[in-house]
Amino acid sequence: MSLAAAIRAARRRHGLAEDAPVLLVPAHRGKLAPLPAARRRAFTRHLSEAIAEAFAAPAAEPHNARTAEPHNAPPAEPRKAPPAEPRNTPPAEPRGTHDGIAAPLVPLVRAACACCRGQCCTRGGEHAYLDADTIRRLRRTAPGIGAGAILARYRAALGGETYEGSCVFHGKEGCKLDRALRTDLCNSFHCTPLAAFLRAHDAGPPARSLILAGDDEAIRRSAVHRAEPPVAAPSASRQAGATRTGAPGCPT
Ligand code: SF4
Ligand code: SF4
Repeated sequence: MSLAAAIRAARRRHGLAEDAPVLLVPAHRGKLAPLPAARRRAFTRHLSEAIAEAFAAPAAEPHNARTAEPHNAPPAEPRKAPPAEPRNTPPAEPRGTHDGIAAPLVPLVRAACACCRGQCCTRGGEHAYLDADTIRRLRRTAPGIGAGAILARYRAALGGETYEGSCVFHGKEGCKLDRALRTDLCNSFHCTPLAAFLRAHDAGPPARSLILAGDDEAIRRSAVHRAEPPVAAPSASRQAGATRTGAPGCPT
C-alpha cells in the first residue's frame, strides 16, 4: 500500500477530516526481553567511570548537549558505534522529550513518541548517553548525594525487562529513568520529522493530528492526537472572593 493510501485508510479508520495534518515518525519494533546480566554489568561499569570522573573534577564546566550538538544532529556516541539503521527510516536518534518546547506541544510529543515506541533509544546501548556532566548536573540539584547513592538510583531504575539491543532503560512504557536522571540530550531531542512538525505548529498543536509510525515497508501503527482546548478563564461568579491581580481573563 502506498503512503498516500495508508494515510487515507488511517484517516477513515480514525474518522479524521482530510485536512488533519499527518506526522510520520519511525516505528520501533524491538522485542522485549529480560535485561542480561552482562548488559547490567556493562552499564554499571560505564556509570561508575562517569561518577568517578564527576567526583574527581566536580567543578568542570557544565556541558549542555543542546548547545553543543547542532539541532537534530546525531549525537557523538560516547562509547560504541551505533547499530545499522534500516533503510529509508528516519534516522535513529536519541529519544526526544520535552525540554525546549512550549507546554501545549508536550502532549503531542508524548503521543508521537508513544506511537513510535522509542526508535531513537536504540543507540542508547549500555551507556544511555550518561557521562560525567550529567552526574555533575545531578549533584548540583541534589547537593550532598554520594557516589554510591547515585549509582544505586540508576541501577534501581534498570528494572528487569528492556528492548533487545536498545538502551538498557528502554522499556515497554518508554524510558524508565526519571527525567532528572536523564541526560540533557535525552531530555531535549526530537527526531527530524517530529522536530519539523513542531516547528510547523509552534503556535500550538493542531486540533487533531494523525500520527503514523512506519518503516520502509509499511505503516505499523497509527494514533490520533487531540489537542486540549485552551483552559477557559474562571467566570466572575467563580472568582468571588479572589484577588484579581492579572489582566482581564487571568485566572489569578
Ligand atoms: S523522538 Fe519520539 S518519535 Fe522521534 S524517534 Fe524518538 S521516540 Fe520516535
Ligand atoms: S535514557 Fe531513556 S530516553 Fe535516553 S536513550 Fe535511554 S531509554 Fe532513551
